Amino acid sequence: MSALTIRDVVIGGRDGLDVRIEAGRIVALGRRLAATSDEIDGAGGALIPGLADHHIHLPALAAEASSVRLADLSSAGQLRQRIADAAAAFPPGAWLRATGYHERIAGELALADLDTLAPRHPLRVQHQSGALWMLNSLALAALGEADLPSAMERDRAGRLTGRLFRGDAWLRTRLAPQPLDLAAIGRRLASFGITAVTDASASNDADSAAILAAAHRDGALPQRLTLMSAGRLETPDDRVFTIGPVKVLLDDAALIDLDDFTSRIDRARSWRRAVAVHCVTAAELALTLAAFDAAGASPGDRIEHGGVIPAEAIGRLKALGLAVVTQPAFIAERGDRYLAEVEAAEQPDLYRCASLVGAGVPVALSSDAPYGSPDPWTAIAAASTRRTAAGATLGLGERIDAADALARYLGAALDPGGSPRRVEVGAPADLCLLAGPLREALAAPSSDCVRATLIAGDVVFRAA
Ligand SMILES: [Zn+2]
Repeated sequence: MSALTIRDVVIGGRDGLDVRIEAGRIVALGRRLAATSDEIDGAGGALIPGLADHHIHLPALAAEASSVRLADLSSAGQLRQRIADAAAAFPPGAWLRATGYHERIAGELALADLDTLAPRHPLRVQHQSGALWMLNSLALAALGEADLPSAMERDRAGRLTGRLFRGDAWLRTRLAPQPLDLAAIGRRLASFGITAVTDASASNDADSAAILAAAHRDGALPQRLTLMSAGRLETPDDRVFTIGPVKVLLDDAALIDLDDFTSRIDRARSWRRAVAVHCVTAAELALTLAAFDAAGASPGDRIEHGGVIPAEAIGRLKALGLAVVTQPAFIAERGDRYLAEVEAAEQPDLYRCASLVGAGVPVALSSDAPYGSPDPWTAIAAASTRRTAAGATLGLGERIDAADALARYLGAALDPGGSPRRVEVGAPADLCLLAGPLREALAAPSSDCVRATLIAGDVVFRAA
């Protein structure tokens, strides 16, 4: 049986250790282990468990690669230019997909605005939240008029406005499938030391699960996969992915009623699955707590994002045993806008961390990529500084130190915020080898600190 030895690493503060891996697991750990056919020189770097991104959207992240990105724009003029440049690169009639739109760029986009932006191409523009697509007239025509879902907004006169809320699953049924370069995503995540991901897309179904499963089987997407979905999902025979919680999407603008919510929780229980609820606003959280009060919470239930958590909700989260899977990188990426737009009294409630941890609420970190950066090291930096892009701070009392932030990427996929996995004999060889000591990586968190990443003993990334 082929074996691999990683030489001279630091594990949990013990230096000079060798680690032998066989059949995907750590089988020995000690000083001066016997030679094996395959060896990696750790050169005194720290060896830590591979990171788990507990909330990511893989198909959307892959689709980003062929999309027009708008997130960096700040004016209508820039928007016109960016879309025009993209349109020039495609023949008339070809779809344009733009992402990361926010009203600060050019306000609410009406159908006529979208038609002006792209007069010869079907255009779909995704809001930064991921919840809304804005389509131009050519896009509406290309999608056809038959069997439109209620998610397709109409004005009082019954005319389509081009706005489609939470319509991704339906859109997929109408659009030609886009080849997704999941291999590029797999490589990129591996370069960050990520060995496991939880895809939190409510739109996951048998088709999208099959695409992700195939990418995992052929090695393109080597990370261990856990998939959420709104509906039922079956485990494939080869157990190539794990089925995660049932995802409940909430929208402030159209909150579901409590009975609907509790029946979704009951249905998840009948499938023996936990429940993960998208909660960005205080109203969404209030409804969610009421639903768990009514239906009961179970281990593995979780709040996604925790964008706004009023102080009085913290004790209820703890009492219900709910974990919070949050994204500190939003502090860095969107913090300046929060400071400008969110009432001062509500700012302490934004993307809490330390107060939840202090109250005993399990907290896990994640990216929500592509809506946030997929790089966990930028999130670890943001969690430990609470610094915005412009250099202001937001919720400084919510900072946790970088070591604690890293630990919140090391929980098991089905126990986010639980005990960090450890590098120990018997554990799967899902590992992240750092280029130097752990304290150096934590002093200035950056993915540059990752020297190699292994999944089940296979080297899936090696720094140049
Ligand atoms: Zn998400």
